[in-house]
Amino acid sequence: MSERVNMLRAAMVAVGLGERPQSLVNGLLCDGDGAEIILVDPFTELPALTYPDAGAVLAQRACAAAQSAQTAWAKGMSGAARGQIMQAISRAVLAHAAPLATIEAIIAGKPIRDCRIEVAKVAEMFAYYAGWADKLHGEVIPVPSGHLNYTLREPLGVVFQITPWNAPIFTGGWQIAPAIATGNCVVIKPSELTPLTTVALAKLAEDAGLPRGLVNVLCGLGPTSGQAAIEHAAVRKVIFVGSPETGRKVAMSAAAALKPVVLELGGKSANIVFNDAKLEHACLGAQAAIFSGAGQSCVAGSRLLVQKSAHAALVDMLSKGMNSIRLGDPLDDATEIGPISNARQFAHVTGMIAQANAAGANVMSRDTTPRQGYFVRPTILDGLNNSANCAQHEIFGPVVTVIPFEDESEAIALANDSRFGLAGAVWTADVGRAHRMADEVRAGTFWINSYKAIHVSSPFGGSLNSGFGRSSGTDALLEYTAAKSIWLDSAVTPRIAFGYVS
Ligand code: NAD
Repeated sequence: MSERVNMLRAAMVAVGLGERPQSLVNGLLCDGDGAEIILVDPFTELPALTYPDAGAVLAQRACAAAQSAQTAWAKGMSGAARGQIMQAISRAVLAHAAPLATIEAIIAGKPIRDCRIEVAKVAEMFAYYAGWADKLHGEVIPVPSGHLNYTLREPLGVVFQITPWNAPIFTGGWQIAPAIATGNCVVIKPSELTPLTTVALAKLAEDAGLPRGLVNVLCGLGPTSGQAAIEHAAVRKVIFVGSPETGRKVAMSAAAALKPVVLELGGKSANIVFNDAKLEHACLGAQAAIFSGAGQSCVAGSRLLVQKSAHAALVDMLSKGMNSIRLGDPLDDATEIGPISNARQFAHVTGMIAQANAAGANVMSRDTTPRQGYFVRPTILDGLNNSANCAQHEIFGPVVTVIPFEDESEAIALANDSRFGLAGAVWTADVGRAHRMADEVRAGTFWINSYKAIHVSSPFGGSLNSGFGRSSGTDALLEYTAAKSIWLDSAVTPRIAFGYVS
């Protein structure tokens, strides 16, 4: 067995897992009964671990376990007590940051420095929502009839969350923390390609005091384990983070059972640079926007819109900058970009570059790349227009399409000429223009002279093919609760009418 697999197994044991991937159902690590799934280390391209798909039976058990755990959590405990457990989870995550980051780096191929940041952000998510656990309240509404009318915000019950492979522990914490802070219980299915840190997070949460069965993790495939959970009668809402194609299927299955969904999907975000911007800053921002995480980020700045007079200078700066980015082993502290996370995605990204090349793009790539692993060199595609395939479809790799524009109105038109509406940014010295762009560009998140700033306290989400609904911030508290309206008649003679009381 390789040294890396030994390291992986040691890290798994350090966070309370066994030496192979298992689902966590009702507090117990268990094996599924489905088809074999192979986890591959994307740096070595070698199989690391195998496990069976959770399957429908385990998915049903997970939903039933969650349902039984919920009442005691939502009604048998004060909000403050729930908040204290969530603070303990936050501390447990920080205390196990090193093994969690190691697991993520090996299995997702993410640079260890990024994994450490994401683990710290997960701890922050539990601490942030811990603070909300005893502050959720409704309102008193001055209705004209004179009734005392007030609202309660009630938990939904069992929520089913589905997450992708590009930021496994980050998206897990991002959805689990607001769900449990508001009194729900969770069944979560991480990507079958990167399940380990989500199981570890749930296990650490139980060890920190979370009741058994409140968070259950299914390690397995979407069409089997995922579909069975969507259909389970106890599930009251489905939260999906992933591609638009799968999101559509999930939303249709949920709709058939009249279950609401939140969809956090892909993007093709416009990063817009005007000629009055500080070009060195815009260039560093553009690099971070598309090359960090090897471009495997839903908010990646994959379309770089540049004012014509700054186009040549910015492309030159960006192409020179590509050669100083450090590609390498995700476990190496110095590595800035690791491999693409899996073989299927590697084939997709390289296929999109080949297609752009065939369509006549001027393809500029970094000089070198490591010999082994699913590495894609940071790449600039220039010379095509916004209708090109590479400008309209998510590549989800370190590949940026550059599109020149003349003026503000053309920049806005190009930015909005997309099926997506997730994020965007502008680089300019003109504060009025910055605000006009923020107003006009269709995006759930928009940065001014910045990119990829993100925090649990701020809402996140998109429109069109980027999905609907919001995660994080106080918006997530609303997604995970429903308002109940209560009417009390305190009049000496009750106001009873044969029809509406007004
Ligand atoms: P994907 O859609 O292939 O898979 C996402 C999840 O859906 C996985 O857990 C998968 O097992 C599950 N799944 C697949 N088929 C299913 C089915 N029939 N029923 C139920 N579940 C099913 O996405 P991916 O390739 O893992 O992730 C990349 C995508 O995720 C990109 O499009 C990226 O932009 C998007 N993403 C969006 C956000 C956001 O917040 N908007 C965040 C991260 C990633």
